[in-house]
Amino acid sequence: MKDESCLFCKIVSGDIPASIVRKTDRVTVFKDIAPEAPIHLLVIPNQHFANMAEVSANEPALVGEMISVADQVATELGLSSYRTNINTGAGAGQSVFHAHLHLLGGRAFGWPPG
Ligand code: AMP
Repeated sequence: MKDESCLFCKIVSGDIPASIVRKTDRVTVFKDIAPEAPIHLLVIPNQHFANMAEVSANEPALVGEMISVADQVATELGLSSYRTNINTGAGAGQSVFHAHLHLLGGRAFGWPPG
């Protein structure tokens, strides 16, 4: 279901433009507007959930679909390694409350993250 006030729901519906690189019946992938790496994509469910914990609780198979789509896109882009990142809650840096995972690649990443 669409949340009328949600930025990412509007990207899924096409009401707000985005650089979409993949869209399936359940998942959309688009370029992050403020990239932290040469490749920085957001992988989101088309249905509105506030965060990935809600996806996991309500549609656990969709978590796997999102990771699978992320890996397919990363492979198609020639990434031999990449980072996926999930922020759950404002304290962890979540700023858009529509579930998403970040897919980052094209540079080296350290651990722990800075
Ligand atoms: P988070 O901080 O984990 O909630 O990540 C939200 C991400 O959404 C940030 O990396 C933003 O740069 C990105 N973002 C915000 N608005 C847009 C937009 N209109 N199009 C693409 N990415 C966006």
